Amino acid sequence: MIRINENYTKLQASYLFSDIAKRVAAFQEANPEAEVIKLGIGDVTRALPQACIDAFHQAVDDMATEEGFHGYGPEQGYAFLRDAIALNDYQSRGASISADEIFVSDGAKCDTGNIQEIFSTDAVVAIPDPVYPVYLDTNVMAGRTGDFEEGRFGGMVYLDCTEENGFFPALPDEPVDLIYLCFPNNPTGTHATKEQLQTWVDYARNNKAIILYDAAYEAFVTDENLPRTIYEVEGAKEVAIEFRSFSKTAGFTGTRCAFAVIPKELKAWDADGKAHSVHTLWNRRHCTKFNGVSYPVQKAAAAIYTDEGKAQVKELVSYYLENAAIIRKEMSALGFNLVGGDNSPYIWINGKTDSWKFFDRLLNEAGVVCTPGAGFGSCGEGFIRISAFNSRENVEKAMKRIRKALA
Ligand code: PLP
Repeated sequence: MIRINENYTKLQASYLFSDIAKRVAAFQEANPEAEVIKLGIGDVTRALPQACIDAFHQAVDDMATEEGFHGYGPEQGYAFLRDAIALNDYQSRGASISADEIFVSDGAKCDTGNIQEIFSTDAVVAIPDPVYPVYLDTNVMAGRTGDFEEGRFGGMVYLDCTEENGFFPALPDEPVDLIYLCFPNNPTGTHATKEQLQTWVDYARNNKAIILYDAAYEAFVTDENLPRTIYEVEGAKEVAIEFRSFSKTAGFTGTRCAFAVIPKELKAWDADGKAHSVHTLWNRRHCTKFNGVSYPVQKAAAAIYTDEGKAQVKELVSYYLENAAIIRKEMSALGFNLVGGDNSPYIWINGKTDSWKFFDRLLNEAGVVCTPGAGFGSCGEGFIRISAFNSRENVEKAMKRIRKALA
């Protein structure tokens, strides 16, 4: 009799987005004339930059010729893309990452979900609360947790991110092996300083732990004093893996391209205390289970590193950041405490009431959809997340309606 992986039965059904959809549908049925504005989902709304489109078209044309045709490519990604990433995202910022430490993939979701496979099943995992749910669920699937009780999984170390600690987690009281950090953060929109990240890098070095650093929203960092990569922090190359994505940087959510950086000096140990290269382990895993991102998509991604591409990405990101500034200004003026939106597309607002109650109020009184913070973990209760991914017109209209409803 074939049996299932029973860890899957521990997973909590995520009702967040289906509950939102149900409430929106009910509102729409009761108010068929109302035009609902969605500022809830983390998907981008604007088209791919022209430089990406041109490179994409050219690469498709290449595929139509014998000379330009590309079959299976290198699993780790084409050199033209890995070289451009190493130079522009790392070396130009003083971080000595080389092209062969970069693994191109089809998404940071897959990478952040799959990476745990190469570590022992009894590794103690620390996870922020609130959190991007992929980190938690993939560890549940792998059997690293106990049962779900009173809103949390046994065996998991939760790192509370609250107003009191400025949404930056304190070091844990107990030893942990794998630490998930995400900056700029989804859902809180906060970023961390180099000094703050240094405390975790030092912790990881002293405890032989590894930091899994999700920087999917790196492109939104405009404050020059804030780090664009964890490798700007001293010692990070010994203890950190960084995940990046072209999804939010250049509108690739539907095109799919991302990468993980695994420095060669990163080590993890076996039960006998022998050190192993994490880079070698991931390379083995990647080559066994993944066959590379398509040639046209990698060509489109590489185009963001041309002068034209850089200017277009900057314009794209600025557009969403200006939306975020409008949201910040309006919600602050209404008296709400909030964070995020300055180096991130998300604004995390203390609604001074139950998350879902505030969600319902915005929907029913303003026709605006946000995301209730409680859906991201127990520390998210009382908050809502508003996303800047929408048109300027819709953001301005939504804020006007919220002002009218709540003032
Ligand atoms: N990491 C974080 C923190 C995210 O919020 C998201 C998407 O919303 C992802 C990763 C997924 O990125 P990708 O589209 O590259 O899979």
